[in-house]
Amino acid sequence: MNLAEIREVMVSMGQPSFRAAQVYRWLHRGVISFEQMSDLSKDFRSQLAERFYIPYAQILRKQVSALDGTVKYLFRLIDGECVESVLMKYHHGYSVCISSQVGCKMGCTFCATGKSGFSRNLRASEILSQVQAAQADCGTRISNIVLMGMGEPLDNYENVLRFLELVSSPEGMNIGMRHISLSTCGIVDKIYDLADRKLQLTLSISLHAPNDRIRVRTMPINRRWGVEKLLEACRYYGKTTGRRISFEYAMISGVNDSDACAEELAQRLHGMLSHVNLIPVNNVTGNGYVKSSPERIKRFVRILEGKGITATVRRTLGSDIDASCGQLRRRVQEEEVKV
Ligand code: SAH
Ligand code: SF4
Repeated sequence: MNLAEIREVMVSMGQPSFRAAQVYRWLHRGVISFEQMSDLSKDFRSQLAERFYIPYAQILRKQVSALDGTVKYLFRLIDGECVESVLMKYHHGYSVCISSQVGCKMGCTFCATGKSGFSRNLRASEILSQVQAAQADCGTRISNIVLMGMGEPLDNYENVLRFLELVSSPEGMNIGMRHISLSTCGIVDKIYDLADRKLQLTLSISLHAPNDRIRVRTMPINRRWGVEKLLEACRYYGKTTGRRISFEYAMISGVNDSDACAEELAQRLHGMLSHVNLIPVNNVTGNGYVKSSPERIKRFVRILEGKGITATVRRTLGSDIDASCGQLRRRVQEEEVKV
């Protein structure tokens, strides 16, 4: 619930409306029961507990990288489903990568989440509770959020929008839109809708190929919206919001990493406010995908830069703790199957 909705509840329960701000503050501090709201009367706390519940994320597993301190959480939700989040420390503070769905319907062939199938959408509160639980666990304020964990955020659009409203609310966690990134495989109609809302968040597009012929092999969504339709939507997003778009490109040896691919990509992105993020692919799905060599990646970057496209190679964090999308949940599922 947002503050206005809680206010209505307070009034309907015969409370003064300022009570809403009190309850809202507690919720955004990450309490997991009404009992913890110590400045409310005992009687009122039990009335709340009879009518409502707080859907918190419970830490089921936690792994800390010995290499860089990255923390990976496996959270259990109220119905027993599990999602992953990853906490990363950067020079500018803590950033948390969170999930928007349990699993994903999109079936990208390189992705561990896609491989595990789809279970359900997360509610706004369940998306938010990952940030709160990570913050409570690390004891430091989280300043940045990336919606890049499990699931396709634009396939759970209403809940994600509500989450964005809640997490950025000044009475709540107050994390500004400029500190939030959302990554999508390219649900084109929602990109137009998001553009028209003119939120200041950073949009990342999982592109991973310069043309339909290659993209359709790894990303089934490309059958619905091809590369040109997707880039058209991106140009609209850039024009409407003035924000630079970030393109994710997983480098897969012999699939999408040739000089010709780099040249075609540069040509496609020409004139667009963009940045390309190259990620050596993680072989997690047993599909035999192999990372491009560092020399190949360097050459790819040089070709892009030579044509005026800025590109960087994504730093790998938490490689010792399965810190990529969907890997931990998948491993736990496999262990459960073995048991
Ligand atoms: N569904 C959204 C957000 C979650 S995926 C999306 O696809 O954008 C987060 C990012 O990790 C995406 O860019 C995705 O393409 C990338 N990714 C998934 N599996 C990967 C792998 N095995 N190696 C490298 N990047 C991967
Ligand atoms: Fe889903 Fe994103 Fe994985 Fe594709 S890459 S299967 S859209 S989570």
